[in-house]
Amino acid sequence: MNEATTMNIAPGILRIDLSSSVARVATYALLDDAPSRDVLLVDAGFRGGADQIDAALRTVGRALADVRAVFITHAHADHSGGLADVIAAAPGATVIASAGDRAWVEDPERHMSDNYDWPATYGLPVPEAVLAALRSMLGPGVPVRRIVKEESEISVGASWQLRVVGVPGHTRGHVALRDPRSGALLVGDAIADGVPPSYYESSVYRATLDHIRALEPRMLLGCHYSPRLGPAVAAMLDEATKQVDEAHAIIRDLVAIAQEPVTLPQAAKALQARFGDGGETRRWAWAARGHLDALMRAADAEPARVGNVPAWRQAR
Ligand SMILES: [Zn+2]
Repeated sequence: MNEATTMNIAPGILRIDLSSSVARVATYALLDDAPSRDVLLVDAGFRGGADQIDAALRTVGRALADVRAVFITHAHADHSGGLADVIAAAPGATVIASAGDRAWVEDPERHMSDNYDWPATYGLPVPEAVLAALRSMLGPGVPVRRIVKEESEISVGASWQLRVVGVPGHTRGHVALRDPRSGALLVGDAIADGVPPSYYESSVYRATLDHIRALEPRMLLGCHYSPRLGPAVAAMLDEATKQVDEAHAIIRDLVAIAQEPVTLPQAAKALQARFGDGGETRRWAWAARGHLDALMRAADAEPARVGNVPAWRQAR
């Protein structure tokens, strides 16, 4: 079994870094120090990771059975795939998610087709081995018992309240948790770090970056990078904003000057050429479509087709 590493972030906030042969992701455990000893788990990790979470909790005198609620920041396989395992060990725990990501939490097959397999329709097939790895991270669907939105309150024990912040973009229903006690924002994957960034509808993602900046968090607790503190918070937001603005200009110009409608592989290649590798071209599909959809929403582009695949052209 892989072993989790843990880090005490602030009083009552434990970061648990999980790893497997296919994924690495951090979850967070919020620990009530009152007699209730309640644990709020922020994200459930991937399928098969629950034993690592349990072992990590035992280093601070708790266990998975103490989990009273699981807050899902967003439904990606490495954040929600372990939910069924967690609930098996903590059967009374309340599963909390947003309306936007609920269907993916509850229905892994729909999650696979909506989120992971769609680029195939656009000319960027996803290799079977990649789909198999993603599928291996997803456990059975679990019913969401509580739906939250902006400003919903989440309690840990009797005296610790956190607020939900809507941070859509990376997924359509992505939510974060704001902790007034530490000034931390448990931000999931709402802010991209490095390449390729991954978001639906780039203008929604960009607005989320502005929203987070306005909250002035003292600390950003993401799931795929180390905690950002103090000046590093603004630096990360500024870098992500610069990246999404530049990417938008690239796609806007590509559509504007193209003689023929632009396909998703062409748009993905244009981003890859500017921002460096980030692996195979298909990994840029999410960002590329995010910008093309933003152009459509702004009525700067319209749908077209090239052969059998959807494409985009300058609006006339
Ligand atoms: Zn994600």
